[in-house]
Amino acid sequence: MIAASTIQEVREQVAQWKRAGLTVGLVPTMGYLHEGHASLVDKAREMCGKVIASDFVNPTQFGPNEDLEAYPRDFDRDCALLEAHGCDLVFHPSVEEMYAPNAATYVEILDEMPKQLCGKTRPIHFRGVCTVVSKLFNIVQPDYAFFGQKDAQQLAIIRRMVRDLSFGVQIVACPIVRESDGLAKSSRNTYLNPEERQAALCLSKAVFAGQAAAEEGQRDAKALLKLMTGIIEAEPLARIDYVSAVDGETMLPADELTDGVLVAMAVYIGKTRLIDNFIVGGLK
Ligand code: AMP
Repeated sequence: MIAASTIQEVREQVAQWKRAGLTVGLVPTMGYLHEGHASLVDKAREMCGKVIASDFVNPTQFGPNEDLEAYPRDFDRDCALLEAHGCDLVFHPSVEEMYAPNAATYVEILDEMPKQLCGKTRPIHFRGVCTVVSKLFNIVQPDYAFFGQKDAQQLAIIRRMVRDLSFGVQIVACPIVRESDGLAKSSRNTYLNPEERQAALCLSKAVFAGQAAAEEGQRDAKALLKLMTGIIEAEPLARIDYVSAVDGETMLPADELTDGVLVAMAVYIGKTRLIDNFIVGGLK
């Protein structure tokens, strides 16, 4: 596996692969990789001639009081995981390589979509995500890019951005990978102490209960959210940020649980903010 830290190195390598007629898949990550990320690399490996993963903790998507400094990092371990899953190149730039000191150009969706769900407590988050992902698309020029359903709002926003700005990349959604007890895998799970780790199961319990109720025919969003909220509120260490049912494309509130509706949540367990979700009728 090639490890590249400069934009130039990536451009040259990709140009060579494209001249050889190979398709290129991109898996954007912030590192501290786990099986969730690995599943994206596996899917990319399946669909593309060459696979690139980016490993970059992007400062522009963190708010002033968020965990940018504390965000876990272990590049050597990430390389071992990526190599084991057949990744061809890891792009691991410095902040200076990605952002000029006076960088002031952003990509932002100017409607309600990024203000819903996570956008309510993280007002600049999706602007940072769109900006860095646009930069990665410009640097790598991938044929396909792979994103996890775990970050459902991010996925919907990237799809919208790709459509609105005519990026020539196809977005591939990958299902949520969970620990054996149900907790959605996340780099932030490492912040949880043993007691919090146990308490964090209230998210997946609520997701599974909500999913089962929807499968059994519950169509009333309010009733479903009440059921899920009750499960989370029974956990003393949990504090709900939101539990919502929204249209899977616009992220606007949905009253009726038709296929494609996203039921999503963000919950603080102690100081750690975790997210989870499901799509009514399953991921298409
Ligand atoms: P992150 O490093 O957290 O920014 O995540 C990078 C990519 O991996 C995003 O597209 C995430 O949605 C995806 N991802 C993170 N955790 C999971 C998971 N448990 N299952 C599936 N995909 C995931």
